[in-house]
Amino acid sequence: MAPHRDDDTPVQSGKPHAEHLLHRSLVMHPSMVTSAKGTHLTLSSGQRILDACAGAAVAVIGHGNDEVHDALLAQARKVSYVHTQSYTTPVAEELADFILQGSPHGLEKAFFVGSGSEAVESALKLARQYHYERGQPERLHVVSRKQSYHGNTMATMSVSYNVARKVPYQGFAYPHVSYVTPPYAYRYGLAGETEAAFTARLLRELEDEFLRVGPDTVMAFIAETVIGATAGCVAPPRGYLAGVRALCDQYGILLILDEIMCGTGRTGTFFAFEQEDVVPDIVTAAKGLGGGYAAIAGIYVRGRVIDALRQGSKAYNHGHTYQAHPISCAASLAVQKIIRRDNLVSRCRTMGKVLERLLRSRLSDLRTVGEIRGRGLFWAVEFVQDRETRETFDPSVGFGNRVQQEAFRRGVAVYPGAGTVDGVRGDHVLLAPPFTVTEEELETVCRVLREAIEAQEAAVA
Ligand code: PLP
Repeated sequence: MAPHRDDDTPVQSGKPHAEHLLHRSLVMHPSMVTSAKGTHLTLSSGQRILDACAGAAVAVIGHGNDEVHDALLAQARKVSYVHTQSYTTPVAEELADFILQGSPHGLEKAFFVGSGSEAVESALKLARQYHYERGQPERLHVVSRKQSYHGNTMATMSVSYNVARKVPYQGFAYPHVSYVTPPYAYRYGLAGETEAAFTARLLRELEDEFLRVGPDTVMAFIAETVIGATAGCVAPPRGYLAGVRALCDQYGILLILDEIMCGTGRTGTFFAFEQEDVVPDIVTAAKGLGGGYAAIAGIYVRGRVIDALRQGSKAYNHGHTYQAHPISCAASLAVQKIIRRDNLVSRCRTMGKVLERLLRSRLSDLRTVGEIRGRGLFWAVEFVQDRETRETFDPSVGFGNRVQQEAFRRGVAVYPGAGTVDGVRGDHVLLAPPFTVTEEELETVCRVLREAIEAQEAAVA
């Protein structure tokens, strides 16, 4: 057998590194991005793209920020890696303190990992360990919601309800999971039902589910504070999360709020749950935490959860080689300092109002636009075939995807999303621009989005 090539002869000329990287699609090559600055990406074709979704709601301060580059380079020169079983670094400690010092929510500890899925895994394992240490090993069950996404690893896929992604892995799944109806009124509300009645119905269903599986066997309820990709920027109705919190407290169940997409300022407050008058036991964060400058995610944990470990084994029985990676922490700390210094969460609120006004005024009259909804700079446009009946396009049409691709051809990136769950279908595009986006750029986004929708309405009519 020939040895693996280890010389430095150039790879085949004319084919610049486009053969060996495994992409999601084996038939379509993704667009090649050669540079990124501010709110714009530049493709290898030379086309400039206005990034109206910040990747996947990631690039909160925009692309190519030299302050962040300097911070991560300076950290690399000081300490680029330590293993956290034996060591810590000033930058990791400072990041945790920067986010949690003086937390009015009793969030006491932060744990940093490399991806959102790892953060949700960490939250689930911590919830399990909490009950185990308190002498309740029978608490194994997780209640989640339909139309949910919490990650792609085995446990996080199991608590997600993204049916299509699970198909090949049925035998692998964590078995102790069940799902309740999400607070997505446009799709799950009944005709004529008030918001209060909808909320009460969902809370009854949740309590019934706790009682059905046996409340003493449930370890956690997990939900996104504002549902992101799967349903499209669905904020909970008033009182829903407070009701969930009360039920969790009543039955000794931990509340995990997944703020990987909707947190770190995206909905106009640093934590999305701050608009709900509720505090979770564990909250996850990722995308806006590093702003895309490094692979970093985290969990923030209430003191009372940590207390159970303090009084028990005195250790968190979990860890990864790259947890609290110093360069990732340095990038994240720089991003978080910029967010705070430049008042970007407040800017997100202000620009969010601009985006809402533009979306409503530019798109509401289009015959395929069913609902426009969101919070902060986190908005979705849901498409329907019939506005009256809310009937969606056949999945084979892929209307939301068509709109996304059409907008991209016209120079604006939006995030596609669609999910069919028990016959209930959402077909939407998602907007989540950097918090630094300007009003003029939002005008362009809404103009191009309208053109893209009109073009696709004509194409599928
Ligand atoms: N949870 C939510 C709400 C997400 O939106 C995502 C990713 O989109 C994840 C978890 C998984 O994060 P990652 O893709 O970083 O593993």
